[in-house]
Amino acid sequence: MTVFKGKGVYGAIAIGKVSLFKRQAAEVRRVSVDDPKKEIERIEAAKQKAVEQLTAIHDKALKEVGEANAEIFEIHIMMLDDDDYNESIVSIIETQKVNAEYAVAVTSDNFAEMFASMDDAYMQARAADVKDISNRLIACLTDSGSSENSTDEMMIVCADDLAPSETVSLDKDRVLAFVTAFGSSNSHTAILARSMNIPAVIGLGEEFLSAVSDGDMMIVDGHTGDVYISPDDETVKSFEEKQAEDTRKKQLLQELKGKENITLDGRKIGIYANIGGVGGIGAVLANDAGGIGLFRSEFLYLESEDYPTEEQQFQAYKKVLESMAGKKVIIRTLDIGADKQIDYFGLEKEDNPALGLRAIRICLTRPEIFRTQLRALYRASAYGSLGIMFPMITSVSEVEKCLAMCDEVKKELTADGIRIGENTEVGIMIETPAAAVISDRLAPLVDFFSVGTNDLTQYTLACDRQNAKLEAFADTHHEAVLRLIEMSAKNAHENGAWIGICGELAADLTLTEEFIRMGIDELSVSPPFVLPLREKVRGISLT
Ligand code: PEP
Ligand code: MG
Repeated sequence: MTVFKGKGVYGAIAIGKVSLFKRQAAEVRRVSVDDPKKEIERIEAAKQKAVEQLTAIHDKALKEVGEANAEIFEIHIMMLDDDDYNESIVSIIETQKVNAEYAVAVTSDNFAEMFASMDDAYMQARAADVKDISNRLIACLTDSGSSENSTDEMMIVCADDLAPSETVSLDKDRVLAFVTAFGSSNSHTAILARSMNIPAVIGLGEEFLSAVSDGDMMIVDGHTGDVYISPDDETVKSFEEKQAEDTRKKQLLQELKGKENITLDGRKIGIYANIGGVGGIGAVLANDAGGIGLFRSEFLYLESEDYPTEEQQFQAYKKVLESMAGKKVIIRTLDIGADKQIDYFGLEKEDNPALGLRAIRICLTRPEIFRTQLRALYRASAYGSLGIMFPMITSVSEVEKCLAMCDEVKKELTADGIRIGENTEVGIMIETPAAAVISDRLAPLVDFFSVGTNDLTQYTLACDRQNAKLEAFADTHHEAVLRLIEMSAKNAHENGAWIGICGELAADLTLTEEFIRMGIDELSVSPPFVLPLREKVRGISLT
């Protein structure tokens, strides 16, 4: 048995087998062959296998993310059958007498380059699709036997690190836990693990990668950050008991469902939930959240192969609003850049991406993207109680530009006879020190503030939230961060706005009383934290 210590980002226990995370792009070597015919047969078999995989993915996507988002997999199946694509592969095999993998890789590069050089944005985006189907084809060629992925067994996914897009694309029904060698607790992967209710430990260090193998038995303790490789029977038994204890505690919390979030001396606060997509609604309802305090809309973009259309976005927002049946739903406009990169946006590489062109800065410099999202949001506003929230605000003029764009969109829709909601609230994230410091100037412009403590901590303490080495310096209880929150709360209330917290700190039960004393009106947390927070609030007395 070997034990590693990392940082637990979601407190639960998992016991199971390891599945090492494999990135799709396999290294392809050029190999001369004597029998090109055999390579062509291998291609045919691999294509069939790839079509079967894509059909299964398409069916699953249809159920989980709807028809519009599932359509891309139908397109991938058609692309695999494209005459030009197939002729190129066969001709490379025949003329150069090389292995099938190499022929696919060269064809992929050629076609991707051709698409990328086209003028039309839609065709340019097809470059990523060609690469995607080619990688799948190469994977089917190199792994022709039945892969372990075909089993339905739940696994503990171990990786060096996971990008948010990689995390989203994992089959959540098969993931018992996430364990990574690198990463930090405020990274989006950690946030996703929390919102998916999956035990997760990060930052185990490089040695972990050489100590772990596919199929190893493992225990992941998300409470302490301990990870046991090949645990002995006694350790397994004691963790099975701890798991049973966790389950008992969860059952007790269920008794709080339907109860108010009220302190012993009568102060009520809102406890909302954070989600990353339509798929999160089930957890919000199951945990009895009073609303959605942060819908990270960028995940719609991250899960997509191309810019989601106005209609696709409208359907997603409408579904969330309808499912919440009149409870408040705060949808944050696109927040990409920094660690959330999307190929089809074609953003330039930056030396300091966290300080770069991200979030509202992208929306204000590419208004066509912003307008599409705002149109979808205001169309959806007719179906519930919507709040629109802008991320990464640093100045009054940015807010004024956002509001002007909202007014234009509302006028356009009304002129087209499209119904929009009457009580849509507009708010901003307080996640830069600048926004907190000028919160007295910003509050009169909006209905609400929501404090993004993940970024507010990063920018106030000058600690990159992605850098695991800085965990010791990124003190989330730092007086500077707490003073900025308090200052924002005071300025919000003096100017008729309400204030919530939607960063990870909202779930820190050691700060709940302090937040309520500051006058925070709402706390928005990952769905599994809603009931523990309710329990905490109900035990507080401010007098
Ligand atoms: C935050 O910064 O605290 C926040 C809620 O936004 P995100 O974590 O998505 O950057
Ligand atoms: Mg943020």
